[in-house]
Amino acid sequence: MNRYGIDIWGKQKFDIKDGKVYVDYKSKPAIINIVKSARKKGLSGPLLIRFPHLIESQIELIYKTFSKVQKDFKYKGSFNAVFPLKVNQYPGFVKNLVKIGKKFNYGLEAGSKAELILAMTYNNEKSPITVNGFKDNEMIILGFLAAKMGQDITLTIEGINELENIVENMNNFEGTVPNIGLRIRLHSSGIGIWAKSGGINSKFGLTSLELITAIDILKKYNILKYFTMIHFHIGSQIEDIAPLKKALREAGNIFAELKKMGAKNLKAINLGGGLAVEYSQNKNNYHRNYSLDEYANDIIYLLQDIAKRKGVEEPDIFIESGRFVSASHAVLVAPVLELFSKEYSETALKLKKTNPPLISELYALYKDMDKKNALEFLHDGIDHMESLLTLFDLSYIDIIDRANTEILVNLIIKKAVDLLKDKNYNELISIQERVQERYLLNFSIFQSLPDSWGLKQNFPVMPLSKLNESNTRSASLWDITCDSDGEVSFDVKNPLFLHDVNLEEEDYFLAFFLVGAYQETMGIAHNLFSHPTELSVEIDEESYNIQNIIRSKNIIEILGNIEYNKNEIKNILFNKINKSDLINKTKKSKVFDILNIFLNDNSYLKTDIIQSNFFEEYENE
Ligand SMILES: *Cc1c(COP(=O)(O)O)cnc(C)c1O
Repeated sequence: MNRYGIDIWGKQKFDIKDGKVYVDYKSKPAIINIVKSARKKGLSGPLLIRFPHLIESQIELIYKTFSKVQKDFKYKGSFNAVFPLKVNQYPGFVKNLVKIGKKFNYGLEAGSKAELILAMTYNNEKSPITVNGFKDNEMIILGFLAAKMGQDITLTIEGINELENIVENMNNFEGTVPNIGLRIRLHSSGIGIWAKSGGINSKFGLTSLELITAIDILKKYNILKYFTMIHFHIGSQIEDIAPLKKALREAGNIFAELKKMGAKNLKAINLGGGLAVEYSQNKNNYHRNYSLDEYANDIIYLLQDIAKRKGVEEPDIFIESGRFVSASHAVLVAPVLELFSKEYSETALKLKKTNPPLISELYALYKDMDKKNALEFLHDGIDHMESLLTLFDLSYIDIIDRANTEILVNLIIKKAVDLLKDKNYNELISIQERVQERYLLNFSIFQSLPDSWGLKQNFPVMPLSKLNESNTRSASLWDITCDSDGEVSFDVKNPLFLHDVNLEEEDYFLAFFLVGAYQETMGIAHNLFSHPTELSVEIDEESYNIQNIIRSKNIIEILGNIEYNKNEIKNILFNKINKSDLINKTKKSKVFDILNIFLNDNSYLKTDIIQSNFFEEYENE
């Protein structure tokens, strides 16, 4: 049975039983059953399902791991963590996160004024807030206000001008000053496709010379006592632990040097985010070469070692892991709308009395194929198809011949796959390389998996049911945008096998996992598809509960979002209907009613048949 790598990317979170994917927690509900419940509530189209218990387990895992390693090493500094809001700012996530994080004193990180407002609003009272990114005067004033509100806030300075800005505001807040952090520019470079955050040429951070200048300014204005933290972030999804270790050594030494320069209250090193998520579905291709244990061990060992050698106290540790905390909590479920080759049946053939010889040969290949010759006949069939398509281009055969070619080749492929499905996997892969079935999914890659499109990042994907049936169709996945980039493709090295389903008889859902980090705010409304309908699922010992349903935006709202005047659109449409001679006067208001229903629906495709015969229908009223 193909487990779609669930033991790699979904360990202890998801598993398979009775052919269905289930959530491995308490009553262990099958995801397909959750989807069916949601549909009963009238939620159609793609669904983004959040599992708050998976936010909790990730936060808990981080704190427990560090706590254990702290004990093992008798490490004297404290361990702290904040969630970087840029990774997921949606209320369905953030509100759960702060509720769950309270008992750990888990805080928030903000990188913009809007995020800082969110942090000031929702952060647990005693939990830390860190502020990174470029700051103007307003953002710095917000930092002072947060401090005035009693928040434990640290403004991390990205450049000397920000420090000067803090100095200027100093006297306006009756002695309340936020903690000051300095972002350090590391010599060691960033990593992965997300690099550019670290390294000597990185976008962020103070050089050694600037650090010295900063300390001078802090001393001059007598505010060195507010300087408590140094910060760095070498990039997201750190797949190899080595660059992080290098960065830690560098940061540990800078910490010790700054303390020697008199920064008495400097207590913490904030090592940013980057803790990687294992997205791989293939055991020959892990994305991450370390575990959380190793990550924690390396950090504490290295910082302790440097502190010992340099004779300074062991620093408090802050981390800003976003991806690791949020990725697994969200699952995107997309209904399959169509298999592109479904219409290719034997009855669809339109064979003539005399056919071009190659067509007759194709037909014979199809009829005479058996287990022994299947592979050979398949290859012959594909060769014939290419010749026949060339003959069409040269006007030697007509469109009926061309249709017969397409049908026969598809029949040959299906028969070959069926005959060979008990053979070994590699053979199946080799024959499927050129004969992928295209599955049309009701979702937008640009909206819901932007990193799949923009960074070619892969997300684990699998069907939610039929997992005890043979899956023999090598697949590529197409979304409903009319953009040719709207495809998740798979190759021979990394194939995706799905089921041959008859969608008239059964539903078939695919789920993309680990989509809880970055995808939602990065998603774009290409073709005006909006954020999918989302819901949270609380699971207990007996059952589960669907909460916090937020429906996908309707069409008129989406148009409003890109600054169209909603009333103007309605008025123009209404006037056009009114003026039209083709619509009977008595029916005009009904036509408008129907249009209104459509405007107030979301733009994802509906599978139910909508009555379009309302002209006739109303005639009899
Ligand atoms: C993006 C970012 C993070 C989060 O990184 P992850 O890879 O999601 O853990 C943390 N800190 C800073 C400063 C960032 O810019």
